[in-house]
Amino acid sequence: MKIALIAHDKKKDDMVRFATAYEPILSQHELFATGTTGLRIMEATSLKIHRFQSGPLGGDQQIGAMVATNKMDIILFFRDPLTAQPHEPDVSALMRLSDVYQIPLATNMASAELVIHALSRNDLHWREIIHDKEEGKRKE
Ligand code: PGA
Repeated sequence: MKIALIAHDKKKDDMVRFATAYEPILSQHELFATGTTGLRIMEATSLKIHRFQSGPLGGDQQIGAMVATNKMDIILFFRDPLTAQPHEPDVSALMRLSDVYQIPLATNMASAELVIHALSRNDLHWREIIHDKEEGKRKE
């Protein structure tokens, strides 16, 4: 599965703690992140992460482009609801696209824990069925 990790500045410590706690599960998947979030996680763990631009410089949009082509399976986005973000339109666009494509999107640590447990139980296997269907369409 392809998993995107994003954390606003005041939530980055939480994201590092989360990634450290769930490193054994996360390490079995292909990980993507916005620039600074990815850097922080890689400094604290042995996880390999494909890093996009920093969020305010277009990282959320790059992840959005993967959602729009059905290439992203899960987004764990630790948002800071108490601080104005210069790239709020990008944040809203990413959440909107996740709804368009029915991508599991957790916006805080509590829901991210639920998603990660679902992932470890293989409850998100349906995403692989969608990939297989897309692959079939491409071959037609
Ligand atoms: P960052 O971006 O990981 O590069 O800080 C996250 C964000 O603020 O959207």
